[in-house]
Amino acid sequence: MKRAFLLAYPAGHSLSPAMHNAAFEALRIDAAYQALEVAPALLPEAVALLRQADCYGANVTIPHKLAVIPCLDLLTDDAKAIGAVNTIVNQDGRLLGHNTDAAGFLRALREDGGFQPAGKDALLLGAGGAARAVAYALLKAGAARLDVYNRSEGKARALAQNFATLGEMQALEPGDLAARVLACGLLVNATSVGMRRGGFDPDESPLPAGVLPEKGFVCDLVYRPARTRLLREAESVGLRTQNGLPMLAYQGAEALERWTGRVAPVAVMIAAAQDALAQA
Ligand code: NAP
Repeated sequence: MKRAFLLAYPAGHSLSPAMHNAAFEALRIDAAYQALEVAPALLPEAVALLRQADCYGANVTIPHKLAVIPCLDLLTDDAKAIGAVNTIVNQDGRLLGHNTDAAGFLRALREDGGFQPAGKDALLLGAGGAARAVAYALLKAGAARLDVYNRSEGKARALAQNFATLGEMQALEPGDLAARVLACGLLVNATSVGMRRGGFDPDESPLPAGVLPEKGFVCDLVYRPARTRLLREAESVGLRTQNGLPMLAYQGAEALERWTGRVAPVAVMIAAAQDALAQA
């Protein structure tokens, strides 16, 4: 039996085991996926175990996406540019670090949301790890212009500077936010605002009251709850929306395809993630 893991801390609420085990079953692959709670000090030891022949590799999530890099043999260009790894592939004992968040985000937008970002003006809220992957994905996909707004403005400026060679990207001042939101064709919330978790109010929106795109597509990377306040408000004025579950499923699908060489059963993975979420 082959094995794959999630390296996280904490690991308790992850939907990934349900998603990947359902996919292995649908593909009739003899493999098991398990979430491992790995304290930061034990990360190098846990990563070393992934070199074993029966191991496909692992997904990596908070707080290990950056810390794992020195434990790996090689990074893909995407992982290097984004500066974070969310998937490790064991290639005959050598560990290759990928970032499938960017590809997962794009596939979710196109295949599940039916939205093509090429040539569109996009606005990104947030400048953390997820925002980096989304910014990279949108610029590589040919967005005409990408504005980024973040509570800590310096982080938004640093992000825009970092990707300046990939396309037209700028950090917004608070006073410019409302007008740019109104005009954008795609709005992506990559902040943690709206998430149901300790310290966050799930009924908060990352935007000021009454500020929404006029006719854009609204994507919230949060999936717990399934319909955040931002998505409910966008739907109430007739905008098309997508929550973070398709991105989660597609980044997982991209990882599974690299581990197994098979086409991932994305619909099975989305359904398994939805079931696990409903039971959580
Ligand atoms: P992160 O690196 O910790 O970044 C968090 C971001 O949220 C930062 O930009 C932070 O702003 C902002 N933020 C936090 N609290 C805020 C508040 N009260 N008001 C305004 N901004 C606030 O986290 P991450 O890994 O990028 O994750 C961000 C979100 O994306 C999370 O909800 C996560 O669950 C979701 N996510 C979803 C997927 C998926 O597959 N669907 C994948 C990855 C992440 P500051 O810089 O000012 O602190």
